[in-house]
Amino acid sequence: MSHVFHRHLKQRYPTAVGGEGPYLIDAEGRRYLDACGGAAVSCLGHRDGEVIEAVREQVGRLAYAHTSFFTSEPMEALADFLVERAPEGLSSVYFVSGGSEAVEAALKMARQYFLERGEPERRHLIARRQSYHGNTLGALATGGNAWRRRPFEPLLVEVGHVSPCYAYRGQAAGETPEAYGERLAAELEDEIQRLGPETVMAFVAEPVVGATLGAVPAVPGYFKRVREICDRHGILLILDEVMCGMGRTGSLFAAEQEGVAPDLTTIAKGLGAGYQPIGATLVSERIREAIAEGSGFFQHGHTYIGHATACAAALAVQRAIESRDLMARVRWLGDGLQQRLEARFGDHPHVGDIRGRGLFRGLELVADRGDKTPFDPARKLHAAIKRTAMDEGLMCYPMGGTLDGQRGDHILLAPPFILEEFHLDEIVDKLDATLKRVVDPH
Ligand code: PMP
Repeated sequence: MSHVFHRHLKQRYPTAVGGEGPYLIDAEGRRYLDACGGAAVSCLGHRDGEVIEAVREQVGRLAYAHTSFFTSEPMEALADFLVERAPEGLSSVYFVSGGSEAVEAALKMARQYFLERGEPERRHLIARRQSYHGNTLGALATGGNAWRRRPFEPLLVEVGHVSPCYAYRGQAAGETPEAYGERLAAELEDEIQRLGPETVMAFVAEPVVGATLGAVPAVPGYFKRVREICDRHGILLILDEVMCGMGRTGSLFAAEQEGVAPDLTTIAKGLGAGYQPIGATLVSERIREAIAEGSGFFQHGHTYIGHATACAAALAVQRAIESRDLMARVRWLGDGLQQRLEARFGDHPHVGDIRGRGLFRGLELVADRGDKTPFDPARKLHAAIKRTAMDEGLMCYPMGGTLDGQRGDHILLAPPFILEEFHLDEIVDKLDATLKRVVDPH
């Protein structure tokens, strides 16, 4: 019996022993095309020589120095790199070890900002239903994923939840995308009024929704309206780019494509591409300034913030993406993947929607394409798809639908940026073989 407390205690997993570009290899020598980067993490694929060398060099020189005693060269250099490329106004970076920690830091920074400004009554958060922002208690409370929240509900702070921007199911027949975006913005404003504008601290959203909805971008103009509403009421905008950031959608930050600048942004996953655990919260100048000129101390911290080796790995990853012009490749490969998915599954009776940006694509599965009825969640289609895809030699990231029928099962694709064109065909072929085995054949 394994002594590892695995996340699923009733399942057996193959043992990963190696990687090669976009493939993972298990102890029996089986190869899996990593079409989801684990969970949108491995954007450079596996065993990248430059990153390995950077990690080796850093560990050899200085693996770690506690940030209550020292700063470090890789941490300073990575902060400079990110700020030079970040949306306007973001001027400093707080480094943590993953996405949930980055979200927790953003929430606490928002709260401390208002305390420093003498607005202690600002304590409410608003986020969106069917969202995921991490599994630690603050991040879990922020998320609107009913299934993940349910067991821990008594431990969660109250957060206002509004509708996600999810055109496939939310946009009414005959409604334009603009009108839909306006309607959602009005819903946010109503929630702010319900809570009392002077008590609201921040609105949190993912620019392109990853895990919970499956690569769903907002309709044009939605985030601009959200930004205006936040500004009108003095509320901070926190954009969670843990999954969609770091080039995944074809720009370093997904917010660039919305034309908005957040007050706080969280990143992780693709930042270190899995070579080291790392996340970060990017902080706007006015927040940094309020805290610097007030107490001068962010009342929060972890042992591993700004881990020197993690920062060196992330810097090597980000430099590689830039020097190899991989973001242009993401856009090109992303278009190719979308075209292939549409060609293969566009008229599949159980594929209701194919969507996304860059190398961040989602397919929503439905029992009935006409009225978008999801499959019965009791069928646990997503689990069967994941298992069968592995059997076909493909890693993809399926997620279950909701019991209330507000969302169908979906499959998220988030492959490495280093794919060759033939890998796109391999993804689509293996996905097709998987769906033929699991979903009713077409
Ligand atoms: N926010 C978003 C948008 C995420 O997708 C995730 C992870 N799936 C998290 C936060 C949490 O990140 P982590 O698992 O690294 O704690």
